[in-house]
Amino acid sequence: MDSVGVAAAAPDAGPGPAWQSKCPWGAPSTTSISCSLADVMSEQLAKELQLEEENAAFPEVVAAAEGPFITGENIDTSSDLMLAQMLQMEFDREYDAQLRREEKKINGDSKVSISFENYRKVHPYDSDSSEDEVDWQDTRHDPYRADKPTTTPRRGFIGKGKDITTKHDEVVCGRKNTARMENFAPEFQVGDGIGMDLKLSNQVFNALKQHAYSEERRSARLHEKKEHSTAEKAVDPKTRLLLYKMVNSGMLETITGCISTGKESVVFHAYGGNSTEDKVIPPECAIKVFKTTLNEFKNRDKYIKDDYRFKDRFSKLNPRKIIRMWAEKEMHNLTRMQNAGIPCPQVVILKKHVLVMSFIGQDQVPAPKLKDVTLSSEDMKKAYYQILNMMQQLYRECNLVHADLSEYNMLWHDGKVWLIDVSQSVEPTHPHGLEFLFRDCRNVSQFFQKGGVAEALNERELFNAVSGLNITADNEVDFQAEIEALEKMNEDHVQNHGKKLSTFSSDGDPPIYDE
Ligand code: ADP
Ligand code: MN
Repeated sequence: MDSVGVAAAAPDAGPGPAWQSKCPWGAPSTTSISCSLADVMSEQLAKELQLEEENAAFPEVVAAAEGPFITGENIDTSSDLMLAQMLQMEFDREYDAQLRREEKKINGDSKVSISFENYRKVHPYDSDSSEDEVDWQDTRHDPYRADKPTTTPRRGFIGKGKDITTKHDEVVCGRKNTARMENFAPEFQVGDGIGMDLKLSNQVFNALKQHAYSEERRSARLHEKKEHSTAEKAVDPKTRLLLYKMVNSGMLETITGCISTGKESVVFHAYGGNSTEDKVIPPECAIKVFKTTLNEFKNRDKYIKDDYRFKDRFSKLNPRKIIRMWAEKEMHNLTRMQNAGIPCPQVVILKKHVLVMSFIGQDQVPAPKLKDVTLSSEDMKKAYYQILNMMQQLYRECNLVHADLSEYNMLWHDGKVWLIDVSQSVEPTHPHGLEFLFRDCRNVSQFFQKGGVAEALNERELFNAVSGLNITADNEVDFQAEIEALEKMNEDHVQNHGKKLSTFSSDGDPPIYDE
């Protein structure tokens, strides 16, 4: 939209739209008015107008509105309240633009015009959206609910004699219309009209209703667009705030861009900022943002639901918090691995569903996944033994099973293999822990056998080598059956003793318990 910049920059270029000249209050003197429908709808224009306005209001924070990927220089984003308000304003402005369009459509060229002024989001600064825990979209629900309107009985009138009021009575009808605004989509702002003795004419009501419906459709479209937008926009406003804060606090220097967009997470690269006395910030960081679109996580329930470490909390949590638990889980698991000396990203900080860790790679280029790198046969063999060793350490020292181990989640960096992506990792005594381990073994074994490592154990041998179990079945089906029998034994033990075995034992030794 080329004309947008011009329109925003030069408010007096050309005459304003028809409604402006007819407006009995005259044109507002401070804001610039766009020229066409397309302009009114333009997000870019809205943004520019907003920037202009904010420039006047808060000159020092405006630069932060340009996007989440900014350096810490010259920007004062210290006020969360301010940032939250800016986001709210962006929302409100979009809403107002749509309202203005609707108003224009209804009034057309008519001499008498209806003003939607009262339905505008007059004062965006009023919203209380500073508190991090509050979902600022939820705060838009109107707490000032009117009493339900008295209904007109079937016969169509109430009262007696000359006091009869029918359902067509103007006052009743008007009040009813006002009350019915409640049924508009929750995103639709009806102002505080509901709480007042407001009487809407049918015409105005219908116009508003129409507007509410199209608004609902539009916001659904907008939502969809947001969901599928480019990587930079893949984070929601709340996440953007978290990222702002990290840059603003000096912990991160710059967030440079996106490394990966998966179904469940988006990973960004960032240059580390200033280390403090108690926190060393690596020169390059990876930021893993767990997606707050919930449906992607449904099929992962089984990992966390049955993980006793999270069991008590699981049932009490709302979906948003469950997603935070994934991030938390990844953090805990990475820390265990770090303590065991397994090459993996080092945790820097966890904030809600955002995990910052050290970056595996250099100069913004992430280390290649094992599936993408061509190794010499010598390196391939080296990698294999390293992984065998890591799997054993993971199992024995960290008491973990990766549960998504494959050439996709191993990076080749500095002549060795690094394990990543451990949010789904579980303890071996997880009800499906051994099955997950067997699957990991199958992936690793197949990858290295195909990759020409003659020494590579087959999946069953690898499973025994990692777990220390001695399952003797010589075919996959029986092997799997024995694994499941062990898992069941553990579950029964939990049922009977209220406690899990801390390790599995294959040789009939009494089980060892956690203290
Ligand atoms: P998921 O597969 O669940 O989306 P991952 O943790 O596997 O999430 O991250 C996705 C991709 O991002 C990885 O395949 C890797 O390329 C990159 N990545 C993740 N963490 C790091 C890191 N610490 N350093 C470098 N690259 C990383
Ligand atoms: Mn992965």
